[in-house]
Amino acid sequence: MRGGGSAVQGSSGRRVIAIEPVTGDDSNTVTSLYQSEGKIYPRSVSGWFSRWRWVLVWATQWVFYGLPWMSIHERQAVLFDLSARRFYIFELVFYPQDLIYLTGLLIISALSLFLFTAVAGRLWCGYACPQTVYTEIFLWVERWTEGDRNQRIKLDQGGLSGAKLLRKTAKHLVWATIGLWTGFTFVGYFTPIQDLAREVGQWSLGPWELFWILFYGFATYGNAGWMREQVCKYMCPYARFQSAMFDKDTLIVSYDHSRGEGRGVRPRSEKPADYRARGLGDCIDCGLCVQVCPTGIDIREGLQYECISCSACIDVCNSVMDKMHYPRGLIRYGAPHSVNRPPSALWRRVLRPRVLIYSAALLAVMAAVFGSLALRAPFKVDVVRDRGSIARMVGAGTIENVYRLQIMNATELAQTYRLRVEGIEGLHMVSADLVDVPSASALWVAVRVQMPPAMAEPGSHAIRFRIEENRPDGVEVVEKSVFLVPR
Ligand code: SF4
Ligand code: SF4
Repeated sequence: MRGGGSAVQGSSGRRVIAIEPVTGDDSNTVTSLYQSEGKIYPRSVSGWFSRWRWVLVWATQWVFYGLPWMSIHERQAVLFDLSARRFYIFELVFYPQDLIYLTGLLIISALSLFLFTAVAGRLWCGYACPQTVYTEIFLWVERWTEGDRNQRIKLDQGGLSGAKLLRKTAKHLVWATIGLWTGFTFVGYFTPIQDLAREVGQWSLGPWELFWILFYGFATYGNAGWMREQVCKYMCPYARFQSAMFDKDTLIVSYDHSRGEGRGVRPRSEKPADYRARGLGDCIDCGLCVQVCPTGIDIREGLQYECISCSACIDVCNSVMDKMHYPRGLIRYGAPHSVNRPPSALWRRVLRPRVLIYSAALLAVMAAVFGSLALRAPFKVDVVRDRGSIARMVGAGTIENVYRLQIMNATELAQTYRLRVEGIEGLHMVSADLVDVPSASALWVAVRVQMPPAMAEPGSHAIRFRIEENRPDGVEVVEKSVFLVPR
């Protein structure tokens, strides 16, 4: 093939297209600039890190699938009710005006990501990212229906048979069920999940609910079942900018080159002095670290951006080292700065300036957000001047302005609020000063405010509305506005 590529097998088992230059005058030749990706069949692995990954799979999925079914005060404990513009998180009720807390939460998430990445690289990717978690679950289903790596390769390479059809159908049915259940749960955070379940049972889902269940279900099925490592490698923006947060003290999964090279098979009984005399290191070149890798890379080739720090290669290599009676840790978490230094040096470098700055910023933002949440008033008020009615005379020189007050009760109890106005001598309200607002509801009230004759010059005057809970120790909220006096 001229000007095209010839397929060769990479050390990690991937098919690589070698691109050759176009020569001659054949202008119809097409040169592929893309690498062809072979399917990856990760081998199952067990070990300390693998157990931790499963702990996190269970923990995150218990929370995700379980939370919408929890109830508190006879309502769903966590519900983002977009149609009612009300967001319930356990005891707290938020309104769109509380967007500042969402901003705070996003800043906390970003700073946590910076901190964890600076300390231990892609910990999030390897253990808690939904893509990793769902891929782990889908891989488990794949192993359950089709067997481990070698059986799956054999099944894919074999011709169509009844057994193959049965296994593949079973796998896709379980995947689709998990995907749809995930989509249903996701929508259940925005629509009361018990109503949603009833609607599903009665085949009476609304078009948007149906669309989002199918969309999210399909995304889960596609990303975790088919795309897998491609999402991490080509779609996730985090993989692209994480290197900016790495330094030489960041813990990364790395292969101990000086100890492992040269690689080579040897009898299990061969003494270290003997194989070292033959120029071999501790790596027996079994290839298991490549076979367990969900992104199909060979960690022995050094740090690669595809590595999601899942530590599967550490677990499997440790098991190989155990079998060979070599010390563990040929592949391990380590920082380039700490190579060949004692572990205590590594832990000292964890507390370096960058980490301390991220930690201080994170603590400061967390204190601000949670402190403000704890001190948050149990209701909110918005004051809007009535645009349909500007300042007017209402007889004998009395001037009246009309306002609209939105009172948002963020508690689970019905409340009565007392309204007052101040700022100009004699200023008073002529509409009702007591307002009842049901629990977790917002109410608009029209408020007429009058000023006796000649108490202020023509123009705009600052005034304040004082709104307080109508009980002895009630909280008070003060909102500013202006009172217009016409010429
Ligand atoms: S698992 Fe360990 S011993 Fe086997 S090839 Fe990988 S690094 Fe070498
Ligand atoms: S190289 Fe190791 S840690 Fe990195 S993705 Fe592969 S198996 Fe996971």
